[in-house]
Amino acid sequence: MTEHAPESTLPYPPVHKDKKFVVLSDWDGTITTCDSNDYMTDNLGFGKEKRRAGNLDILSGKYTFRDAFHEMLDSVSSNGHKFDECIDILRKNIELDPGFKEFYKWCKGNDIPVIIVSSGMTPIIRAVLSNLVGEDDAKDIDIISNDVDIHPDSTWSIKFRHPTSGYGHDKSQAILPYRDLPDPPMLFFFGDGVSDMSAAKHADVLFVKEKPNGENDLAAYCTAHGIRHILFRDFSQALGVVQSVVKGEKTPDEVLSAGRIE
Ligand SMILES: [Mg+2]
Repeated sequence: MTEHAPESTLPYPPVHKDKKFVVLSDWDGTITTCDSNDYMTDNLGFGKEKRRAGNLDILSGKYTFRDAFHEMLDSVSSNGHKFDECIDILRKNIELDPGFKEFYKWCKGNDIPVIIVSSGMTPIIRAVLSNLVGEDDAKDIDIISNDVDIHPDSTWSIKFRHPTSGYGHDKSQAILPYRDLPDPPMLFFFGDGVSDMSAAKHADVLFVKEKPNGENDLAAYCTAHGIRHILFRDFSQALGVVQSVVKGEKTPDEVLSAGRIE
């Protein structure tokens, strides 16, 4: 799989070696309740209808995530919204999954790294994360994401980590180095949308967030491709499942067979 690895334009944080378990999670719509890029596109860019059509075109394979997502964000910048203004708006409007703080605290206390793997832009994620979990925890959490290019005329565009990949950021490249370790950890991945398609099949235990707004794109993708996953509504539910695997009470196969947390 790694022979087709796209070249990365951005650095990676060091791989956490000698861990028994590692959590990798999407940011937008998974750790947060609302996707910040969707929020910007819907409210400041070309609007929800066109954005949803773009998501569904990605899901059906008509457009790459990279190209459709680039267009969505360009619609925000071309409507005159500067990047700093977008950060301010998102800090005021984006909220954390109600169970994430507790989940993160438990992982930290049990020597389980939590890594954010996102198709969003690092400066936005850092600003919103520090606002939601506090500066100290925000500094401890690795973020592997895309970045932003601010142009001399103050317009901006997304800078993709993997510009040669149709995913823009191929999230499998954050997971596969763990698989290559001599004694690989068990990998939990959490996601919700089309930006997670590149990661879905590479985790040992995949959690897919059920969205109250019905935008269950990752669940649709996994179902279409026969990728086993566990549907969850928030991290407080997921914590019990992760604990049962970490404590050895259940195997990944057992929790994946259940398919859903009731
Ligand atoms: Mg997401």
